[in-house]
Amino acid sequence: MNEYIKSLKYQDKLNISIDKTKTFNWEYTKIAGPCSVEGVEIIDIAIKLKQLGIDALRAGAYKPCTYPVLKETNGWKEGLREEGLNLLKEVKNITNLPIVTEVMDPRMIDKVGEVADVFQIGTRNFQNYTLLDELGKTNKPILLKRGTWATIDEILGACERILVGGNENIAICLRGVVGMPSYRHIFPTIRWAPDLMMIPALKEFTNIPIIYDPSHSTGYRNFVKPISKAALAAGADGLIIECHPRPDESISDPTQAIDYNTLNEILNG
Ligand code: PEP
Ligand code: MN
Repeated sequence: MNEYIKSLKYQDKLNISIDKTKTFNWEYTKIAGPCSVEGVEIIDIAIKLKQLGIDALRAGAYKPCTYPVLKETNGWKEGLREEGLNLLKEVKNITNLPIVTEVMDPRMIDKVGEVADVFQIGTRNFQNYTLLDELGKTNKPILLKRGTWATIDEILGACERILVGGNENIAICLRGVVGMPSYRHIFPTIRWAPDLMMIPALKEFTNIPIIYDPSHSTGYRNFVKPISKAALAAGADGLIIECHPRPDESISDPTQAIDYNTLNEILNG
């Protein structure tokens, strides 16, 4: 922690017992994929994304949607669920890519864990302490997505909860926070505000890797590339990006998905 921050004594107000000197073990810095598993095409998508050089594929089989019935279609009901997990298993067998996928419920940890190489904790479950405690007892990497409301204390506290369970292989995912009223009339799909300053702010207190999500934090595909660059410039250790072969057709989060070309520019440009 630098001397200036120390002099402000903010740390007295933060209940931090996370050891900043500790190096956390995290190997997934380029994560991309569609918001959700939509069908067997996930295999072709994974093959293509592997060619673009990703370290891990993201895709949700279980999706906590704002409106639970709005998008029901062809067996997709808040995700393809079990069928989605089976497809991700095939993806893994064929491509060998590590899989990042969400677990929403402590009772599902074993089942999702059969295919997930990284457990994603979604924003809505960021302070689901039962889930955090149970995942803390596992030995799989965990990507903890920040609650859209969460303060820096709450982020560090949620990490601590997993760490004290014994699992130190975690990363914090920053994915935007509440409030973007000045943009809404022009860009109605923007729901969250990127909070890039949280990257250096967290780095004052912890070495836990920070993976930035430019997709959910912008909600609008034209902003994904610039905000990706900005996040890396601000010190993010990696990116998790939503990408789809036909972005507008994505079942979930269509306005923020980018195409392969744009992903290639971000990862390899
Ligand atoms: C997601 O990654 O598709 C997702 C649901 O994200 P969040 O939990 O950040 O809303
Ligand atoms: Mn999404």
